[in-house]
Formats: sequence, structure tokens, C-alpha cells
Amino acid sequence: MTFALAVLALAVAVGTATGVRLAMRVHDLRPVRAVLAACLSMTAWAVSGLVMALTSDVQVERLAFIASFPASGAAAAAVLWYGLAVSRRRALRSRWVWALIAAEPVLAAACLAVPACRDAMATVVEGPAGPYVVGGAILNVHAALAGSMTVLGTLLLIGSRERAATGFRGRLAFAAVIVGLPSVVNVAMVVTRAAPLTIQVVAAAMFTLVALVSATRPLEAMELGAPIGPDDVLSVMEDAVLVVDVRGVLVQANTAARELLDSWGVAAPLRGSAELPASALPEPLRSRGIVRTPDGRLLDVRIREVGLSDGQVVHVTTARDVTEVEELRARLADQAEKDGLTGVHNRHHLELVLGGLVARAAAGLVPLTAAMIDVDHFKQVNDTFGHAVGDQVLVAVAQTLSEGVRAGDVLVRFGGEEFLALLPGARAADVARRAERWRTSLAELRVAGEHDPVRVTVSIGVAEVGPGDDADDLLRRADAAMYKAKVGGRDRVVVAGVMPAALPPTGVLPDAESVR
Ligand code: GH3
Ligand code: MG
Ligand code: MG
Repeated sequence: MTFALAVLALAVAVGTATGVRLAMRVHDLRPVRAVLAACLSMTAWAVSGLVMALTSDVQVERLAFIASFPASGAAAAAVLWYGLAVSRRRALRSRWVWALIAAEPVLAAACLAVPACRDAMATVVEGPAGPYVVGGAILNVHAALAGSMTVLGTLLLIGSRERAATGFRGRLAFAAVIVGLPSVVNVAMVVTRAAPLTIQVVAAAMFTLVALVSATRPLEAMELGAPIGPDDVLSVMEDAVLVVDVRGVLVQANTAARELLDSWGVAAPLRGSAELPASALPEPLRSRGIVRTPDGRLLDVRIREVGLSDGQVVHVTTARDVTEVEELRARLADQAEKDGLTGVHNRHHLELVLGGLVARAAAGLVPLTAAMIDVDHFKQVNDTFGHAVGDQVLVAVAQTLSEGVRAGDVLVRFGGEEFLALLPGARAADVARRAERWRTSLAELRVAGEHDPVRVTVSIGVAEVGPGDDADDLLRRADAAMYKAKVGGRDRVVVAGVMPAALPPTGVLPDAESVR
């Protein structure tokens, strides 16, 4: 009897301490409500056991025993509540489910008010050693219902294991064991028709064990609330994640993936409803690469194969929005081929396009003519007006030249004050006319100087790709024609005749024709 008293008193003390600690430790009680409810009901249950152990009046013992029914029912209901909360069942949103969870302890409490029911809960019988309490028919029903609720709660905890994040799995298994074990023991006690006080002592001992184990680190760390699982993680990811199983059916699409499919007008079926075959996915999501969505975003689509243990393969598609990165990349790539001062293309761009254009022309496919444009006496502009004004002149010259180029033409800042225009499809005579227009409009150009407006002239050398010419030949001949324009008095256009590749070192072209 002293042992029973000690166990029950310890259970009341531990239960009270655990309840108080839980209520004080967490500032938000919502996630731990189920655990707190279980703790309080278990403590009430142990109090009834303590009264049974303390009293010598068998009628008081019987009343205390039947008073423990709602308490143990509430404890079992709390375990089920905990299981539902951890497994994130939508069921908890339904009032009917709440009514079902609460039904057993509420009915047990109602039975207390009805004398006939009280008799069916427990009675006092005379034995050779005096009167003693025995459980009635309702005890069996109560044990079966309460036992079922705790078993269901335990199964829900075990079921959540798979869906929980890896770090939570061990703790959930642990929680399932410590929640499930006492209920199995309690049901076993009732089935073996143990004496009421023995049932209470064993239940109290199990409860004390659970409360003490729950205070250990692994369960503390679980925060006793609902653990986060892979689905929760996937749902907050900005990348779309789609999983196609071995049958070629979409089996998972996170929130981002659903929104993405929505932009193509494809609805991803929710769990349990019709299946979407991978072939019904939008075409751009079915192969790797950068693709555009109907609303103009750019996606980097990657598909990975996940091998299963039986050799079959599941496909995981991820789609990341790379619109900003791609636009930035395109802008940087464009900038890398532009001249910083004038905004026209630079030598790097020239190197990328020149070979192809010359090869096409040399093969007789599309003619190519180049114009080398050099500002006359530009050093004097710098010396007279300063480098900043010189820069403005270069910008204005580039602007004027740009106005005269068509789509497909390439304008390059070839050197300091030297520009090169490549005009695919144009013959030397056409470009000579165009160059002449550039020359006249540049001669009319006025750039504001400190006192007087600055005026410049240009010398232009024009050369067309001849059969067998390479890029160097073209540039050398355009440069030579430009040099001839300089020598001839500047502010003029000189067209190089279609000449053999090698030029005299002086660059003077015997058959060069001055347009001016
Ligand atoms: P020519 O008629 O024979 O071509 O005479 P020039 O003075 O134009 O030729 P030269 O090659 O002697 O001088 C070119 C000058 O262009 C020298 C250099 O300081 C200037 N220059 C080159 N790049 C820039 C630039 O980005 N900004 C400015 N302001 N000047 C530049
Ligand atoms: Mg010059
Ligand atoms: Mg020069």
C-alpha cells in the first residue's frame, strides 16, 4: 500500500510540475495544447488513484475510481489530438471530429450523474477478506474506446514519420513509443481484470515515466508541436519542383510548380484526384534548358533522374526563374562588345563577326565592303580644346556615323579617333557614295567648344572584299585607301580597287580612285 501511495503521489507531483513547466516555458501555448491537455488529465487521473489509496472507505474508493473514467478518457482523447496535430490532418478543422474526440470523456462524465451507470462502472462486492471494488461493464467499454483513441494517436505519430523532415523522424518514433506503450499496458490491465487500484498505480507509473522521458532533450527539442516536413519545405521554395514517377505520371508539384503550370493553363491535380501524365506537361518543362513562360519570364529547367532501389527511375524537374540573371547576362554580354565612350561596337565585337562576313564575301555569297574613317588632325582638337571636348567630338562623330548605318551593318571604334564600318551586301561604289555623305555631314558637324564651335573633317578609305581575300587583306586595303586620302589632302574618300592581297608598303594604290 505504501508503494502504491508513493507511485501515485509521485505521479501527481511530476504531472503538476510538468504542466506548470510546460505552461511557463512556452510563450505560445497553441502548439502544445494537446500535450498540456494530456498532462492535466493524467494528473487528475493520478489524483483519483491517490484518493483510492488513501481512503479506508470502500465506497469512497469506488467513487474515486469511477471519477477517474473521464480523466483517463480525456488523457486518451488528448493523445489522439496530439497525433492528429502532428500529422497535420485537415480533420482537426472539422467540428465533427472534435465532437468525436471529446465524446468518450464527456459521456464518461455524464455517466457519473446516473446511478445505474455508476453501478455499471464499478461496484463493491463482498469478499472473504471484506468488501472490495470491481470494474463493471462500462469499464470494458471505456478501456476499449480510450485504448482505441491512444492506439490511433500512436499510429498517426508513426505515420507522420515518413512525411517529417529527416531530423524529426527519430524523435517522432520515440514519441510514438512513449505515447503508445502506456495505453497498451492500461488496456492489458483491464483485460486481465486487475484490481482497480492496481490499474491506477500502473497507469500512474507509466504516466510518470512518460512525463520524465518527455523532459529529456530529444523530445524537448521537438518543441512538442507539429514538426516540419519535406512538403512544408517544398511549399515555401521559389523554385518549381515537379516529380514524375516511374509510370510517367506527375505525383508531386509544389506551390511554385502549380503557379507555373497555371501560367500555361495546366491544372496540376491535387492529391487523390485524377492523374496528370508527364506528356500533358507544357513542352518547355519537358526538356532541360532556358525557356520562356507565356507571361514572358525566363526559366532554367533542369531534369534529374533519381534511381530507385529496384532500378527504376523517377524524374525530378526543377524550374528556376532566371529572368533577372539572364537579362543582366545579356546586358553584360552586350556591354562587353561595346565601346564605353561612343556606344558603338568595339574591336572585340569586330573580331567575332569579321571572319564570317569576309569568308561569305570571299566565297562570292554576299559582298562586303569596309570603310575606314579617321578624324583629321584630331590631336590638334585635343591640344586646342582639351581632352574632354575631344571626347565629345568622338561621341558626335560616332553618332553621325551610326545614323548612316543600316541593320546588318557593323560600326566599330577601331582605334582612338578611327572608326570602321562593315557593310555586308554593299559594293564599293555604293559605299563610296555613302562615305561621301558621311564626309559631308561630318564636315558640317559643330560641337560646342569653350569659345568657338569645334569642327572636324574625316578621311575615309573604302575597300571591298575580293576573291580569295581574308580579313587582314580587307583591313589593310581599307587602311591604305584611308592613308591615301590623308596624303591626298584629307577630308576626302578614296576607294581601293580590287587588288591582289599584297600591297606596297607605302599603301599607295596604283588604281585607287578618289571620289572627291
Ligand atoms: P591625322 O589627320 O593624321 O589622323 O592626325 P591626327 O592628329 O588625327 O592623328 P594622330 O594619330 O597623330 O592623333 C590621334 C589623337 O587622337 C591622339 C590621341 O590623343 C587622340 N585620341 C585617341 N583616343 C582618344 C580619346 O578617346 N579621346 C580623346 N579626346 N582623344 C583621343
Ligand atoms: Mg586622325
Ligand atoms: Mg588615327
